[in-house]
Amino acid sequence: MTKSEIKKYREILEARQAELIAVIKNREGITIEKSPDALDEVQNAAERELAIRNLDRESNLLRNVRAALRRVEDGSFGVCVHCDEDISPKRVAAVPWTPYCIACQEAADRHEFESETGESIDELLANVV
Ligand SMILES: [Zn+2]
Repeated sequence: MTKSEIKKYREILEARQAELIAVIKNREGITIEKSPDALDEVQNAAERELAIRNLDRESNLLRNVRAALRRVEDGSFGVCVHCDEDISPKRVAAVPWTPYCIACQEAADRHEFESETGESIDELLANVV
């Protein structure tokens, strides 16, 4: 990968990281909302559940984006973290934060190996400020 390509991906990743942090911080308010009204309580419970599911997805994505930025720093961006092969340029363009080449991603999806556990959501938010 050329320097200008890496620079472009760093910018994409940094923008994505900022966006995710804003969304996640915003969502913290929703998850603790309480209401004395029973009907509202049901509604809130459903909203909370949805918010928690979204938060889970967003924090996983943020974890991947941050790990990709670290790989930009250490020069291993674009290389699969599992098999050390280059990730196809098309795949990197579509999913710049992916840690895996397609073969390893499929294996990870089938839980054939343990993927990185990474930081908790609190660590994620604490580290970016
Ligand atoms: Zn691989």
